[in-house]
Amino acid sequence: MDKRLHSPNAIKEIMEKYGFKFSKSLGQNFLIDGNIIEKICDKSEITKEDGIIEVGPGIGALTQQLCEKAGKVVSVELDKTLIPILKDTLKDYDNFELVHGDILKVNINEIIEDRLKGLNVKVVANLPYYITTPIIMRLLEERLAIEKIVVMVQKEVAVRMKASPGNKDYGALSVAVQYYSKPEIIVNVPKNVFIPKPNVDSAVIMLDVYDKPQVNVKDEKTMFEIVRAAFGKRRKTILNALSSSSLRLEKDEINEILNKCNIDPKKRGEVLSIEDFANIANNIYSK
Ligand code: SAM
Repeated sequence: MDKRLHSPNAIKEIMEKYGFKFSKSLGQNFLIDGNIIEKICDKSEITKEDGIIEVGPGIGALTQQLCEKAGKVVSVELDKTLIPILKDTLKDYDNFELVHGDILKVNINEIIEDRLKGLNVKVVANLPYYITTPIIMRLLEERLAIEKIVVMVQKEVAVRMKASPGNKDYGALSVAVQYYSKPEIIVNVPKNVFIPKPNVDSAVIMLDVYDKPQVNVKDEKTMFEIVRAAFGKRRKTILNALSSSSLRLEKDEINEILNKCNIDPKKRGEVLSIEDFANIANNIYSK
């Protein structure tokens, strides 16, 4: 078999040998471009001190390079038809471990503490796009000991994660991602580097995860309730959005809090910074 698992020939050979068929519902678009794989690995700055968690190895094209560079790689794959294939394609790597399961359900902390013990943990993956946001939010919200997340996502989602206040793409996802990490778009990726070709353009985004969030928030639940309310009703002023939200505060109380935070109550949520949201939350929480 062709040693380079990203080559269309290797994929074709594997499909024939195992009778494998792509599953659209599992977001299976496999990488067939060695340069993109190199770029993902380079930007992840992988060394033998690193333990990598990979989401969705597919037939192992990216995994193969990760195994060459990292101390250890643990890949989580949901599709059971890929399990025997991966055991074959990656059999030469003794630093590879496969977990058959759903990345939204497996115990990631156990992977980090048991299987990747003593290593710097990074998540590197070409994500299944139908669950991009839940995966990213799980990795960030659980405050796992993860240093960096370097992932291929839909371009539009990468742009939203990186967007700044006032930008049309700025929203609840931007605030959440930027609260926990510093995002950087590494490279835009065209459709033709995947097989089968997806319907959307892609981008690789790197999230440098903060040891602790950059802003001081007394109660994250309150802050994210405010963020949800502010962006749930984008056309409303922040005063109106918050007064009709689940926060159950009177309009004049909210007005008072916004004034205290030096925020014009007539502004829309989409121009507020993370610091503004934290400030409002801390004032509501201490009420
Ligand atoms: N890494 C491979 C590559 O780049 O060629 C495949 C990437 S493909 C975009 C996404 C992979 O995620 C598929 O292998 C798919 O089966 C797997 N997958 C889908 N849902 C998953 C889930 N909930 N948990 C773990 N893996 C999942």
